Amino acid sequence: MTSVAGVDLGGTNITIGLVDDDFRVVDDAKVPTPRGPGRAVDAIVAAVRALGADVAAVGVGAPGPVSDGVVLTAPNLPGWGDSVPLAQRLRDSLGLPVEVENDATAGTVGEWRAGAGRGSDHLLGVWLGTGVGGGLVLDGRPYRGASGAAGELGHVPVRLDGAQCGCGLRGCVEAYAGRASMERTVRLAAEAGRPTAMLDIAAAAGKQRLTAKVWSRALDDDDPLAVAVFAEAVAAAGAGIAAAVNLLDLDTVVLGGGLTERFGKRLTGRVLAATRAHLLVADKPLRVAVAELGDDSGMVGAAALALDALG
Ligand SMILES: [Zn+2]
Repeated sequence: MTSVAGVDLGGTNITIGLVDDDFRVVDDAKVPTPRGPGRAVDAIVAAVRALGADVAAVGVGAPGPVSDGVVLTAPNLPGWGDSVPLAQRLRDSLGLPVEVENDATAGTVGEWRAGAGRGSDHLLGVWLGTGVGGGLVLDGRPYRGASGAAGELGHVPVRLDGAQCGCGLRGCVEAYAGRASMERTVRLAAEAGRPTAMLDIAAAAGKQRLTAKVWSRALDDDDPLAVAVFAEAVAAAGAGIAAAVNLLDLDTVVLGGGLTERFGKRLTGRVLAATRAHLLVADKPLRVAVAELGDDSGMVGAAALALDALG
């Protein structure tokens, strides 16, 4: 039995797990993400060593485009500026084989090998969180593109001259279906006098942000603004997914992230209907499934990539 370390390097926490070759997480730990790449490398090295001597290799999912083990940009990691040769720096410190992958791609690989995407060779992973991430498996292999930036479903345009996206472009999927954008839309509409109880629900729950729980409560109450903004998010996600399916002839879409975990099959059914509205082959068999590994998708996927690299 071979065990490897899977690492999910996030903006807030680094999650690390010891994963066996059946993709079971046998031990895991979480530490806050320190500021800057040097201290992040030190934190990962310490966490890998704490897992014990059985670690044969390390896989890391990082939030940004990754090319040949180099993290090109990582705006969500505190204190990361220029590109960072993360795989090489970890190899030098640990003396172990190291693979580094974009986190959305790693999550998609996790679901493909051990979760809701098993059995598909043409898979899109969609991560609905603060932003919208995406990852691709094509012809049975993770697809990274020319520079490691493939799968950016969140920045597929779905409306010309549409809403401003956090990336600087207009009309992106994320500008409608990312939780940060949805919250901005709600706040602006509330300020403009649209009736909604969403901000009150958040305040009563002691939440600064409109969390998945707040959305769930508002939708259960048929809050008119929540219903409208959520419907637009589903429509935008469906249009973006349909663009990917029409372009790439995919057979499976796995939806993950906080909103998906909260809404489950209710959400997948609506997203599938919104996708079908734009499919060239209307009766094409297409499966939209909820991610099965929860927060572990990225960690397990990174570990799977490290196992594959061992041969
Ligand atoms: Zn964008």
